Amino acid sequence: MQPPENNLKIIEDSLLARIARWKLKSANVAMVLGKTIHLSGVSKENFLRDSAWVAHELVHVRQFQEHGCLKFLWLYLVESIKKGYYHNKYEVEARMAGVKESLLAEQKPEPPPPPTV
Ligand SMILES: [Zn+2]
Repeated sequence: MQPPENNLKIIEDSLLARIARWKLKSANVAMVLGKTIHLSGVSKENFLRDSAWVAHELVHVRQFQEHGCLKFLWLYLVESIKKGYYHNKYEVEARMAGVKESLLAEQKPEPPPPPTV
């Protein structure tokens, strides 16, 4: 498996993420498109400090790489329509990576700051 960090880009105050944030009525949003993480309501610095959140989004980066950009968008959309956001298998996988990361982070001497949502 290719490390997903390769050529990874992070865009702060992204218009796309701002639209998603407004739609989801969320205080902050990170969304992945291809190899780019779009942020809104959170700085790159604070996002990177939240290792569980980063782990979650990196799973999506990997999913994009595995399936190809357009195909993954399609698969994700179909999953979302069938199962909704929470039970979408791509979200379940990403969420598990986030949970695993936060459990690991708890064992470290300096835990990351709590998520802002
Ligand atoms: Zn997700």
